Amino acid sequence: MAKTARLVAQGDEITTGATIDTNSAWLAERLFERGIRVLGTGSAPDDLDLLTRLLLDSSRDCDLVISTGGLGPTTDDVTAEAVAKALGVPLVENAEALEQIRARFRVIGHPMTPSNAKQALLPRGAGLLENPAGTAPGFAVDLGRSRAFFFPGPPHELHVMADRHLFPWLEAQGTAPLLRRRFHVCGVGESVLQDRLADLALPEGVRLGYKTWLPFNTVLLYGEPDAVERLERAAVDVRARVGENLLGEDDETLPQVVGRLLLARGWTMALAESCTAGGASALATEVPGSSAWFKGGVVAYSNEVKTKLLGVPEALLAEHGAVSEQCAGAMAEGARRATGADVGASITGIAGPDGGSPDKPVGLVCFGLALPAETSTRTVRFGIRGRDRVRTMAAATALEWLRRRLAAGSS
Ligand code: ATP
Ligand code: MG
Repeated sequence: MAKTARLVAQGDEITTGATIDTNSAWLAERLFERGIRVLGTGSAPDDLDLLTRLLLDSSRDCDLVISTGGLGPTTDDVTAEAVAKALGVPLVENAEALEQIRARFRVIGHPMTPSNAKQALLPRGAGLLENPAGTAPGFAVDLGRSRAFFFPGPPHELHVMADRHLFPWLEAQGTAPLLRRRFHVCGVGESVLQDRLADLALPEGVRLGYKTWLPFNTVLLYGEPDAVERLERAAVDVRARVGENLLGEDDETLPQVVGRLLLARGWTMALAESCTAGGASALATEVPGSSAWFKGGVVAYSNEVKTKLLGVPEALLAEHGAVSEQCAGAMAEGARRATGADVGASITGIAGPDGGSPDKPVGLVCFGLALPAETSTRTVRFGIRGRDRVRTMAAATALEWLRRRLAAGSS
């Protein structure tokens, strides 16, 4: 049974930084979920000797080598040649591969060129792996200590081929996927989260992991295939410790949960956005069907728009400034009024890099939330740098605050 793997990403594109190797990341995540340990990832330029050496090195100490890229029709695609060289066998034309390439060209209605026929040249003894998404067939060979799989570089072709050829092969080998639960968290930093979970007693066969993807943190629980009940026990503990910051689990997303909570009350919402200029509206409407609960938003960047479209009093702006809880509250109420929505939420802040002052520094964002029964405001000072990051955090925080209020039963 395969327990260890190495990943190889090929091509000048990768080694010059023109393309980011997302294939290895994609594979690594899926192998990890299947209980396979990745011992390392490597890359080589389009160079026969360097690639041959990398393949030989990679196949010395693991059960599985998975390579992506370099299977195309051009002369810089040298994978098959490197594999043949590493194995000490010739390249031979694979009749079935040639037929698959021909069939592919018939489907897309393009004439097949002689260089496409080159893709049917495989190391002698290689097992052909059909590519339903492109012209370059994949193949697999025994190399060193490993079973080595060669897939094309375009990510969507890799995904289709791994689903068709790699994962079923692993299953047939007896690898059973790890069980996985995900807990999405917003509003607490990674370190606070780790502290809350620090002394969690994990049952045997259950592991804890973290993933940060601004503006969210995800707590991951992995369980051995037979640890279903133990994993559920650990999940109960994680939920209790994350508490009100738990926005959703597994495939749930923040806008989905907000939508569900609004629909449960028959409510709609609207947004008034200054510093995010539509970012929160874009996030809210990521979910299909959001028109059932999202009415719209006002991008109120200038004071004039805040006054004209949202009814924020000029005197309020003069006294407290646009970045103030007073303004945020008036903006949220204005969004409700302007759209007829049940809930209005607002964002006004200083995204930077300029415009900060000692009492209103960059990263300071005020939020307003106008519910049917009451309006509340709050200020958050984001401790992160970068205009994009502050805006991303602010957009998510507005929706997250609404989610928490709705979940807590506010009216
Ligand atoms: P093709 O027949 O499309 O040329 P190929 O197997 O020869 O397939 P490459 O030429 O190496 O693949 O790469 C084709 C494209 O796939 C690249 O331009 C790039 O967009 C993408 N790609 C290649 N390797 C990777 C990788 N490791 N991560 C992400 N994308 C990749
Ligand atoms: Mg290519």
